[in-house]
Amino acid sequence: MSDSLWGIDLGGTKIECVVIDPITLEIKERQRIPTMGDLGYDAVLQQIKKIVDQVSVSTGLKPDKIGIGTPGSTNPYTHKLRNCNSVYLNGQTFQKDVQALLGIPVTTSNDANCFAISEYKLGIVHDQYPDAKVVFGVIMGTGVGGGLIVNGEIIEGKNGIGGEWGHNHLDDSGGLCYCGKLGCVEKIIAGPSLESYYEKLSGSPKKLKDIVESYRAKTDEHAHKTMQRLFYNFGRAISCIINVIDPDVIVIGGGVGNIDELYTEGVKAAEQFVFSDYIETAFVKPKHGDSSGVLGAAFL
Ligand SMILES: [Zn+2]
Repeated sequence: MSDSLWGIDLGGTKIECVVIDPITLEIKERQRIPTMGDLGYDAVLQQIKKIVDQVSVSTGLKPDKIGIGTPGSTNPYTHKLRNCNSVYLNGQTFQKDVQALLGIPVTTSNDANCFAISEYKLGIVHDQYPDAKVVFGVIMGTGVGGGLIVNGEIIEGKNGIGGEWGHNHLDDSGGLCYCGKLGCVEKIIAGPSLESYYEKLSGSPKKLKDIVESYRAKTDEHAHKTMQRLFYNFGRAISCIINVIDPDVIVIGGGVGNIDELYTEGVKAAEQFVFSDYIETAFVKPKHGDSSGVLGAAFL
């Protein structure tokens, strides 16, 4: 058995690497460097090699395999990445390329899958819901993603899109999504979508954090409408997930997931749409917040 688990999170602006003790699950090392995405795909590959070399030097350890969380997902047939908001990654055989560069086995998965597995293995699910069999990890931030864990395994799915609820159709009023479809969940309930809805109503821009504050202060009818629309549509969107996979726990990360009222008003809205006379599903915040993805990558 290896004496360490290695995980990398490939973000839009930074690449993070962690080394975890496989027995104690203690984090032995954690480093980040810039992604350098503006210099193109090859530069990003070199940054990945650089951080692995750096961490090897500082820990005195060498990985015998490595897990990497990426945006988008890998097409299981062509092995090419797609659906990445960091567009230089789309069409690249990323897993193969990194594997060739590092000379060790590399496993990749979507960053929301890594988030879900991290909270399952090391986070809130492990701590508070150890008997949970079905866990849905949700990231609601600048986009909306999801990862599904069943009996401890990530469900990548036949088409490699398991858990991708952010691009279910929700409402045409959200407009055209970068994915080419109209009215995706993400275009209604992600942070930028909430901000642009608010701006359309009020005629002036406001950051999400300030919209939430105005909503709580009951001083801004547009903030009230924006938040009501979020809760209602979160309820509609998540009810489709509950009706199909009926998770024990839904862990919600990201900036929108941080809004407390989502766990009261949003859940109340979901209750209206779920095909059950009650909901026992636990809706919880993650233990590791934004740093969850890189920890999950180490378990791929
Ligand atoms: Zn979409």
